Amino acid sequence: MRLEIDRGRLLAEIEALALISEAEPPIVTRIVFSPSDLKARAWMKSRCAEAGLTVREDAIGNTFARWNGSDPTAPVVGTGSHIDAIPNAGKYDGVVGVLGGLEAIRALQKSGFRPRHSIELLIFTSEEPTRFGIGCLGSRVLSGTLTPDAARKLTDKDGASVDEVRRGAGFSGELEQVKLPGGYYEAFVELHIEQGPLLEQRHTPLGIVTNIAAPASLRILIEGSGGHAGAVLMPDRRDALCAAAEMILAIELGARTSGAIDTVATVGICDVFPGAVNSIPSRVRLSVDIRDTDLQRRDRVMRTIETRCNSIATERRVAVHFELLNADAPADCAPSIIDALSQSCREHELNFLPMVSRAYHDSLFIARIAPVAMLFIPCRNGYSHRPDEYASPDDIARGTLVLAETLASLSK
Ligand SMILES: [Zn+2]
Repeated sequence: MRLEIDRGRLLAEIEALALISEAEPPIVTRIVFSPSDLKARAWMKSRCAEAGLTVREDAIGNTFARWNGSDPTAPVVGTGSHIDAIPNAGKYDGVVGVLGGLEAIRALQKSGFRPRHSIELLIFTSEEPTRFGIGCLGSRVLSGTLTPDAARKLTDKDGASVDEVRRGAGFSGELEQVKLPGGYYEAFVELHIEQGPLLEQRHTPLGIVTNIAAPASLRILIEGSGGHAGAVLMPDRRDALCAAAEMILAIELGARTSGAIDTVATVGICDVFPGAVNSIPSRVRLSVDIRDTDLQRRDRVMRTIETRCNSIATERRVAVHFELLNADAPADCAPSIIDALSQSCREHELNFLPMVSRAYHDSLFIARIAPVAMLFIPCRNGYSHRPDEYASPDDIARGTLVLAETLASLSK
């Protein structure tokens, strides 16, 4: 089988999709179910229809574009990613996996290949947590990781619920029907930019993901006592921000001393109340993200952090409250798909790096219901989630070629 990736068409499509945005180019902002997201979905569906794929959407907006195999009863070989983008993002995150997946299917069609298993492109709803505060909303519900009831409780910053927003966007079915039946997938493989610097640093064109790290996020609420910044003397203070400062360092230390380089912890948000220059902070809310490839180690670090924060709170006479938002399990990629990816790399004499995905992706959740693997391509300086995110045409074309051959070998 000789496969030709039409890189001119693929790159032009990446550029065209980037223009469907809530911000001026080169910035891409595409929040789920916003007008630009809906426009991008419509544009994608017409590309898929042009390729002869059968498109269906579920009640939360996950979009499936199917190339029927010769055995319609055989489980599906899936590929895909997301097209929503955080505010001030770039062109490639998610999009390379969606448009690369479509191009892989078109290349296979053109080569004369006929799959036995149907091959399906999947565009996940709301991979980014921007609107509803939780990442991978579509794949969580698809995989049954998030129940329809839990999904219904999510709201956006205006207080609109998932149900209101999705129905407003035209997705009116029941969330109960979103979860895929057991055995739906033969395999699922996601092409994505690395979003880190390793491949570029090692001059390696492809990364084959062996594990996806497990994220946990929690909120820490600290309550002290406010007052006038001049009138309340230091011995009498119960400053919530000073306590938070110690807690932030305790969180950093917890990750640094876990015993493994794979443990990372970040305090990305610190909300201070009342936030006035002459007022002692009475209340602080920290948002914490902790990740690891090992579930036990991550949970141990979280317990250490909690213990340390409790003693800081006692020492500083403030109240502390922990709210666990999510604690997902890590995923191991399927050896059979890793083999198919490696085989294609070897045939083209392409070096590849077995690697851990430290960012999480929809594949983490699809791994609950299907054998999964991911293929990474380099991105310049490891930059992602910013307008100067960049992946080279050569790398995009190589990734798409290896994806196409892998889909072929899995769907025979
Ligand atoms: Zn992504």
